[in-house]
Amino acid sequence: MRILVTGGAGFIGSQVADRYLEEGHDILVLDNLSTGRRENLNARARFEEADLGDFPEVEAVFRDFRPEVVSHHAAQIDVRHSVADPVDDARQNILASINLFELCARHRVARVIFASSGGAGYGEQEIYPAPESHPTRPESPYGIGKVTAEMYLHYYHRQRRFRATVLRYANVYGPRQNHLGEAGVVAIFITRMLQGGEPVVNGDGLQTRDYVYVSDVVEANSVVLRKGADGIFNIGTATETDVVTLWRELARHTGYTGPLKHGPAKAGEQLRSVIDPAKARRELGWAPTVDIPRGLQLTAGWYKKELADR
Ligand code: NAD
Repeated sequence: MRILVTGGAGFIGSQVADRYLEEGHDILVLDNLSTGRRENLNARARFEEADLGDFPEVEAVFRDFRPEVVSHHAAQIDVRHSVADPVDDARQNILASINLFELCARHRVARVIFASSGGAGYGEQEIYPAPESHPTRPESPYGIGKVTAEMYLHYYHRQRRFRATVLRYANVYGPRQNHLGEAGVVAIFITRMLQGGEPVVNGDGLQTRDYVYVSDVVEANSVVLRKGADGIFNIGTATETDVVTLWRELARHTGYTGPLKHGPAKAGEQLRSVIDPAKARRELGWAPTVDIPRGLQLTAGWYKKELADR
């Protein structure tokens, strides 16, 4: 199949693109390289450096490549940036997604797979772990963008007749995650621990998240394509890990011997976030296979090699 992967130079999108290539698909990566890296691009994929906000340029890509499936991973993922500049966030995450979905409808794309967010979409939870039916009450413009794009996708699916799958990811971690932003606490701790920086825990560190390893997320994207599944699926582990536990595990894997230091708590940060993947297990036969101790070990191993090679 011809598959357009937006954000395919980024952490998750590039590994989804790799997997689709392995499975024999034709891949075109569209990415503006705002956070994506050329090193992540697979030599067997076509690459177009373009911004999803540029409708004519993206339309030219559609005309030329004629995608049958679109995997939408491009986004501005910095929650703090979304709070500081909601207009820019909406431009990058809402308007750019509408551009893309409109082009998918006009150019008869058969299926769109959208990378959404469990944690940011549900907001402060009533039920732990949250099922897909949990109310969505996002606490940030980033989360609002994800929920809004899901609603547009639903509209296009119903009225403009392409099939749609929403994958609501938990906190994804693993190789290639950007450690320069504020999103990937695992990548940030590992690189600081390995490079002599200060891996500071915000607040008491008892806030919990549901960490899912990137290869499990890639597998979910593969299953959706193979099974042709429509609908919304949580892609997480139903397991909560607090930041202090994460810090201690990573110190062990990196050989970091410095003290555990706490910084000020981040205002408005959610205390707990964990999502229930039972529907994905039931309907897709998908389940996470890499648990936190193994995933952290693999990630630390990857960064050790990556930093030594630089
Ligand atoms: P990432 O920043 O590594 O990847 C995003 C990619 O999109 C980058 O390569 C960036 O250059 C590109 N991009 C951004 N805006 C673009 C635009 N307007 N036009 C073209 N390209 C653009 O982030 P990631 O962690 O790989 O996230 C991938 C997707 O998964 C995002 O949609 C994100 O919201 C979603 N997601 C991620 C997590 C997580 O924990 N990492 C959790 C839930 C959802």
